[in-house]
Amino acid sequence: MASDFAMDPETLDDLIALRRDLHAHPELGFEEHRTAQIVADRLEAAGIEVTRGIGGTGVVGTLRKGTGNRAILLRADMDALAMTEATGLPHASRAPGRMHACGHDGHTAILLGAAEALAGRDFSGTVHFVFQPAEEGRGGGKAMVADGFFDRFPVDAAYGLHNMPGLELGVIAAVEGAQLASSDRWRVTFRGVGSHGAKPHQGRDAVTAAGVFLTQIHTVVAREVDPLQPAVVSACALSAGDFEALNVIPSEVRIGGTARAYAADVRDQIEVAIGRHARGVASGFGIEADYAFARGIPPVVNAPGPTRIAQDAARQALGADGLRTSFPPSTAGDDFAEFGTRVPGAYVWLGMGPARANGQHHGTGYDFNDACIPHGVAFWCTLVALELGTAPAP
Ligand SMILES: [Zn+2]
Ligand SMILES: [Zn+2]
Repeated sequence: MASDFAMDPETLDDLIALRRDLHAHPELGFEEHRTAQIVADRLEAAGIEVTRGIGGTGVVGTLRKGTGNRAILLRADMDALAMTEATGLPHASRAPGRMHACGHDGHTAILLGAAEALAGRDFSGTVHFVFQPAEEGRGGGKAMVADGFFDRFPVDAAYGLHNMPGLELGVIAAVEGAQLASSDRWRVTFRGVGSHGAKPHQGRDAVTAAGVFLTQIHTVVAREVDPLQPAVVSACALSAGDFEALNVIPSEVRIGGTARAYAADVRDQIEVAIGRHARGVASGFGIEADYAFARGIPPVVNAPGPTRIAQDAARQALGADGLRTSFPPSTAGDDFAEFGTRVPGAYVWLGMGPARANGQHHGTGYDFNDACIPHGVAFWCTLVALELGTAPAP
């Protein structure tokens, strides 16, 4: 590692112990009371100003140095997933049905390690260390923004980091453009007129209409969206009728699913198209359709300026071989987008080396690789040195 922020063995041992303690005590979104307490206590012990309870269980550490006016945020997430761990490791989750299967324990330890290191260094400006709750689909980023985050902590740029099994250890991928998709939900209810299964002419069949609709919505991506723009439309839930009443055509069918895109105009296009198909099918069958499209998190799209700084930071922290400037985007989402769409931002992937069995994100065999902790800390510290204008101390 060619970093000016090489980590001493005691600090690394301490951060590994912290990471494993968080791993053994996972907490679901908006329930991260223990985790938030540990984070806030350690930030305070390092002399960093702490704001607790923002957006529920969120914590912000604020470190001001010198006279610079520029401010940036570095984000980690703290929540675990509602699943049961199967790694059998000594530090495995002690809570059945809760597991750090996305490595947010590692992100928290890395950002705390960076905050503690930066507390003793010079730079000129303000860093807000953001420990957000409820990243896993529960809207923690949105809750922090709704709680006045950007009024209370105005920033010029936002940075996020996520571990990546399968990306080489000692490598960071920092890529301009789309990294993660938007994640939206849609629902359609077809309302017909129920009838005897033997006398469909006496009703208006919503079940057959739903069948036609299901085949049509796959033409949204295939025939309407630009073939060079990635997008997904999936129907994931369907409910109608009763298996105890197979001679009754129900009056109502509910269908719901997810939609993913990387560009705002594609997202808009999908929202309009699903509704048009629902209403068109309903009209053809002489029935009604209710349609709702609920916007979840926006896509994560890395802006050119912050991406270049993140690339320089990765190169300086990990050496020339430690930077990847191309890496495939993910169809998953991350509500870092709640920060990174309001100010220019960059979100990077931290290499963890080969994945163990069932050790991808959200797998029951997943565990964070502690060997990447020094890489993440060095990246954050170098990024702050580059962003806030003072060369790292010798
Ligand atoms: Zn996740
Ligand atoms: Zn995650």
